[in-house]
Amino acid sequence: MTRIAPSQNTHIGLEDFPPPTGNGIDLHIGIDDTDSKLGGCTTHTAALVFEELSRRGFVPLDFPWLVRLNPNVPWKTRGNGALSVHFNCEENRLTEAEDAVKEIVERTSDPSIPSTDPAVVFLKGHPTPALSEFSKRALHDVIKTKEANKLAREADVDTFTLGGRRGIIGALAAVAYDMETDHTFEVIAYRTKENCGTRRNVDPDSVRKMDSKYGDRTFNNVDPETRRVLVSPHGPDPVLLGIRGDDPATLLQALSEVVIREPVERVMLFKTNHGTDAHITVRRDVAGLRPYESAVITGRVNRPPIVLKGGHVIFSVQDETGSLDCAAYQQTGSLRKVARALISGDLIQVSGGIRLGPLDQATLNIEKLEVVNLAETNQFEKPRCPRCSHSCESMGRNQGFRCRKCGTRVPRNSLRLGTSNRMVEPGIYAPPPRSHRHLTRPLSRLSR
Ligand code: ATP
Repeated sequence: MTRIAPSQNTHIGLEDFPPPTGNGIDLHIGIDDTDSKLGGCTTHTAALVFEELSRRGFVPLDFPWLVRLNPNVPWKTRGNGALSVHFNCEENRLTEAEDAVKEIVERTSDPSIPSTDPAVVFLKGHPTPALSEFSKRALHDVIKTKEANKLAREADVDTFTLGGRRGIIGALAAVAYDMETDHTFEVIAYRTKENCGTRRNVDPDSVRKMDSKYGDRTFNNVDPETRRVLVSPHGPDPVLLGIRGDDPATLLQALSEVVIREPVERVMLFKTNHGTDAHITVRRDVAGLRPYESAVITGRVNRPPIVLKGGHVIFSVQDETGSLDCAAYQQTGSLRKVARALISGDLIQVSGGIRLGPLDQATLNIEKLEVVNLAETNQFEKPRCPRCSHSCESMGRNQGFRCRKCGTRVPRNSLRLGTSNRMVEPGIYAPPPRSHRHLTRPLSRLSR
């Protein structure tokens, strides 16, 4: 049995990263696409890079960054993650640092596997405004490789690729990401090479126990609807488990309380944009939508929900420019109940990814649903007492109403069409954690 003591995270200090002294320059290294469906993980490559550069005496400026990009791009391996590491580097050691990174990327990737386009970018100094803008767009747009290549040339960023050039998109987006606005952390424990591909031996009850103790400062450990443990992936990649939350010290403590029954190769803490909703920040018009973008649409329900075989709920929303199908799929659990309760005229804001439906019509896969204003139903509601606000009862056919508490009489014509018998209330609704994207902001972080 392995329990990871907090002190075992020897690769990284928990103290603030001190401003480096000396004459070095800031070297930002972006890495993407070193993994494939057959194995590997770019976070693992970045962990090795971080350790190697630290071992050689380069001074880290921050934790390594794990940046999730547009989750709708169809050519991603899993969660569209790109990585960056940030070091202070003396100018006469730049080549040494770059060569060390390239060697690790070559060692940990296999570009002969289709759709694996390992890429590294080296940015010296601050990102240009154009790079920062590009990084923001990579969260919700689909970007062409040609544009990334042009930008790298213009911003004087050195690039290194094996296979195709597509990995440059993620690598550039990762070095120029804005972590200041919001960020979280993830501690990842990795498996040894021999164990990759076998069932992960992490005790689920110990994860549930850890969740009940640290659930207020960590997120998405356990799905509350099904009690399913969510910390481990299922593929052949080297990630054993990851715990997410707002501060590194809590994450290491939480990890130390999980019972692991296989060897742990290494542990690394990442600063991330998990749980920040950074991909659903752009409001769009229905008429301008393109497949695979993320979008936030505000409009009125114009076709009430229908429930398809399998439990998927589809309804349509209309803004000034057009009408759009919205889908709450079976995996979105209790969110479907809310979607099912909508009626024509409800004012809502829906966020999610745009896909093409079976008839080539754009469909928004709902990741978040805000009910802004409920439409009135065609049912009359009994009035409230004007004196004490208590509910009133009818005094008989064609008669007025009388307050149940204080007896005040209210005339018949105070009957109003209402919303109180609706099965939904204004508010923000999200799917359960088991169907969250990495970027989805959990309800526990909504107020931040
Ligand atoms: P993992 O999460 O396991 O690291 P992944 O899901 O991140 O894998 P990758 O293998 O990195 O998948 O593939 C994603 C590819 O998509 C990369 O080549 C990356 O450069 C590219 N990419 C990322 N964001 C965008 C975007 N907004 N538009 C176009 N391409 C993108």
